[in-house]
Amino acid sequence: QAKAAGRNTLRFFDPAMQALVAQRAAMEADLRVAIRDGQLLLYYQAQVSAAGQVVGAEALVRWRHPQQGLVSPADFIPLAEETGLILPLGLWVLTEGCRQLADWARTPERTHLTLAINVSARQYRQPDFVEQVLNTLATTGAPASRLKLELTESLLLHDVEDIITKMTALQAHGVGFSLDDFGTGYSSLSYLKRLPLDQLKIDQSFVRDLLVDSNDATIARTIVALGKNLGLSVIAEGVETAAQRDCLASYGCDAYQGYLYGRPGPAAELPTHAEV
Ligand code: C2E
Ligand code: MG
Ligand code: MG
Ligand code: MG
Repeated sequence: QAKAAGRNTLRFFDPAMQALVAQRAAMEADLRVAIRDGQLLLYYQAQVSAAGQVVGAEALVRWRHPQQGLVSPADFIPLAEETGLILPLGLWVLTEGCRQLADWARTPERTHLTLAINVSARQYRQPDFVEQVLNTLATTGAPASRLKLELTESLLLHDVEDIITKMTALQAHGVGFSLDDFGTGYSSLSYLKRLPLDQLKIDQSFVRDLLVDSNDATIARTIVALGKNLGLSVIAEGVETAAQRDCLASYGCDAYQGYLYGRPGPAAELPTHAEV
């Protein structure tokens, strides 16, 4: 009976699984349209120096879905990565972010701001990634020295030489590099020594319970010390309270990002000064 039904018949396919596959396919089609039809937008979240100045922002993508409203990246970036849609999506983010950065560069009270952009491993591994960034800087007029690319440790699973070559090429133009979600990934300390990074970003999972979990406190303190000893700046993400900020400050952390200073929002809502 099974044989008669033929090889390609999904006889034992679970209906729940089938529904999931259909839902994912629909979402992939939706996302393709979203990129093409301008349903994506960037939110910006302030990055604040130890001295309390807003020194920059991180761009965080959002999807204004016609039916579902504002969708957060956790719900579509993984799908975009699996399907390859991260390539056009990532280029859109880069272009829109650089346009904003160029705009800030022309605005007196925002001239000094840096912009951090998240780059997926798959996007970074494209052979022409360096050209994409340089072309985007050129066409938007954004200052390269105020662009910072956030990479994650997952990138280091692949050809590290190629990663370093691209970083060096972009750095020659002034582009900076931050290692995002630091401490949660796979990187070994020997990579850290070789990568021409500018910044480590302490993952928010270590910041959350900083004041109640002594292991998290130890890890955060150690990351700050490690960064300093390697000559890197260190920023913490997910800073929600002044007490967390003060604790990180006592370790020598250079900058902070989190709800304490403001949620991600439209560029116009980015604070010019830290209020806390
Ligand atoms: P991420 O780069 O680590 O960004 C930090 C995330 O923490 C953001 O979530 C931000 O909204 C959230 N966050 C900021 N402050 C706080 C806080 O005080 N407390 C808490 N609990 N959370 C805080 P978001 O915007 O949902 O982005 C999630 C992730 O999606 C990002 O994590 C990043 O990995 C990815 N992502 C966002 N935009 C892009 C993009 O343009 N390209 C790529 N490849 N990935 C992106
Ligand atoms: Mg990030
Ligand atoms: Mg992060
Ligand atoms: Mg994170």
